[in-house]
Amino acid sequence: MNLRFRCLKPHDCAKTVIYTDAKGKPSYCRKYLSMDGMESNLFNVLDLKKDSLFIGVTEGELDAITLSMCGIPAVGVPGVENWQEHFSRCLADFDVIYSFADGDTAGRKFSKFLAKEAKARPVRIPKGEDVNSIYVKGGADAVRALIEG
Ligand SMILES: [Zn+2]
Repeated sequence: MNLRFRCLKPHDCAKTVIYTDAKGKPSYCRKYLSMDGMESNLFNVLDLKKDSLFIGVTEGELDAITLSMCGIPAVGVPGVENWQEHFSRCLADFDVIYSFADGDTAGRKFSKFLAKEAKARPVRIPKGEDVNSIYVKGGADAVRALIEG
């Protein structure tokens, strides 16, 4: 049993000061928090058992939930720094592994990493977008179109 926490406030966490210490040094909102001392897990592992030739991999849990809801089996990775070697073996039975990285610098790093570690094929996400924002704007069809195009 493990828990992870994600900030759901409608702000840019990296730019939101939560408090300022006595010396005036700001602390910013941490988008994700993990339990102390817990190892990282793949999220949504039940999708690994789905009858599908492909699977999506996302950075973060919420995008994995969205993909899965849209009919694309998906697992979430809690950041490249928390990647574990056996994650690649969990994905090995699928013909195609798609990486759904955010359309930003960190996302490109994630895609590059997954291409190396799991031979994942990067899905092109427009700049400044992610799976969730595409879903909010265009619904499940827009999300499915990412891999059908
Ligand atoms: Zn936040």
